Amino acid sequence: MTPMGTTTTIIASARLQAYRATLETKLKHPRCMKISCTQETNTKGGKPASRSNLTQNFSSERNLGTLAVISDITWKRFSYEKKRYYHSLSGVRDLLKRVRMVHSSKNQSSQKGEVILACDRFVRTDTKDSLSKMAKLIDGKQIASDIRSELREQIVKWIQQGHRAPQLTAILIGDDPASNTYVANKMKAATDVGIVSKTERYSSDITEEQLLRRIEELNLDDAVDGILVQLPVPDHINERKVCNSVSCGKDVDGFNERNIGRLCLDMNTLIPCTPLGVQELIKRCQIETFGKNVVVVGRSKNVGMPIAMLLHADGRNDTCAMDATVTICHRFTPPSELARFCKSADIVITATGVPGLITADMIKEGAAVIDVGITRVVDPVTGKNKLVGDVDYDEARKVAGHITPVPGGVGPMTVAMLMKNTFIAAKNLAKK
Ligand code: NAD
Repeated sequence: MTPMGTTTTIIASARLQAYRATLETKLKHPRCMKISCTQETNTKGGKPASRSNLTQNFSSERNLGTLAVISDITWKRFSYEKKRYYHSLSGVRDLLKRVRMVHSSKNQSSQKGEVILACDRFVRTDTKDSLSKMAKLIDGKQIASDIRSELREQIVKWIQQGHRAPQLTAILIGDDPASNTYVANKMKAATDVGIVSKTERYSSDITEEQLLRRIEELNLDDAVDGILVQLPVPDHINERKVCNSVSCGKDVDGFNERNIGRLCLDMNTLIPCTPLGVQELIKRCQIETFGKNVVVVGRSKNVGMPIAMLLHADGRNDTCAMDATVTICHRFTPPSELARFCKSADIVITATGVPGLITADMIKEGAAVIDVGITRVVDPVTGKNKLVGDVDYDEARKVAGHITPVPGGVGPMTVAMLMKNTFIAAKNLAKK
C-alpha cells in the first residue's frame, strides 16, 4: 500500500469533501427511497441505517469515508434495483472489507488517506501524478485480473456443487497471425479461470456450408457451453450468417442478431465482450454516468453501437445500463463537430482504429477517456512494432481525469468478459 504522507492526506480530505457533496445530492434523489444495505457499514452493527441516520452519520468526518463508498453503492442499488448489477459485488465486498479494516485501525492519522485508497483501488495514482494533475490511469490489467480471480472462485464453487467445468470452443479459420494470438490468449485465460477450452482450426478453404454444419453440431453438443468464431472469416463466408448460426445461449461473443436485438431492448442477454468490458471498467472505477454527457466515437455493430447502448439505456432494465446522455460520432462527423462534441463530454469513449484521432484539446478537463482503439504502428524511435490507441495519450493524460492506456486498458477486459460470458452461458444451460 502507498505510504501515507501529508500530501496524500490533504488530497484525501479534499476528495472526502467532494464525496460529501455528491452524497448529499444522491440522498435527496427521489429514487433513493430507503437504505437497507448499509447494515454492513453501520459500525454500531445491527439495524440497517435509515436515510436520516446516514445523513446524520455523514456529518461526522470519521464515518464519511465509509459512507461515501457505501452510499454510492447503496444508491446504485436503488437506482438500478437489478440483481445483475452485482456481478461486481465481490469487488464491492472487497472495498467494504478494506474500509472496515481502516476503521478498526488504531492509526487514526492515516485513516482518511486509506479510505480514499480503498475507493480508488482500481485506478493507479501516485503522489507525483496527483500533484501534477495527471489523469488517473484506469488499470484494465488489474481489473481484468480481479475479475478472473472472482470467476476462478465462482467456478470452483460451481464444480463443488456437482456441475461440470464450463466449456468454451473456439473456431479459428486460416492462419492470420493476429487471430492466432487472440485465440491463444483467450484459451489461456479460459484455462486460468477453470474453463475447459478447445480450439478447432480449419484451413481458409473451408466452405460456408461445412462451417455452418460444424457450428450446428456444437450447438447441439451438451458438453459445450460457449462457442466463439474468431472474426474475420474468409471473404467467401458470410460473417452475419455465421454469427447468427451460433445458438443464442452459447453465443459468448454476443454477435447473434437476436442477442443484439435483446441488448437494444435492454433485455437480459449475452452482451458483446468489449462493450461489456468498457461498462465494467466504468463501474469498477466508480466513474459517474447518471445523466452525464458521453461521446462514443465509432459506430460499428460489434463495438461502438453496443457501447452506446450500454451507456445511454435505462439502468433499471436488465442490461443495467448507465443512464447517460450519449452522442455517437463516426467517420462522417465533421472533425470540427467531433471536437465540439468531445469537448463537452464528461466521458469520451473512442473505438475507431485511427491513431491520434482524439487530441488533448478535444478533452474537457477532468473527463474520463476510454480508448478502445488498437492499431499496430512502427515506433519511429525504435523501429519496432507497437500498439497504440485512438487517443494522443501523452497529452490527453494532462487534461483528463481518468484515462485508459493502450495496451493495458480495454484489451484485457475483453478477454475477462469472454470468460464471464462463458460462465453465464454454462449456468443458463445447466438450468435448462
Ligand atoms: P470498425 O472499422 O468496424 O469501425 C470503426 C468505426 O470508426 C466506424 O464506425 C467509423 O465510422 C469510425 N471512424 C473511422 N474514422 C473515423 C473518424 N475519422 N472520425 C470518427 N469516427 C471514425 O472497427 P471496430 O471493430 O469497431 O474496432 C474499432 C477499434 O477498436 C479498432 O482499432 C479495433 O482494433 C479496436 N478493438 C479493440 C478491442 C479491444 O479489446 N480493446 C476489441 C475490438 C476492437
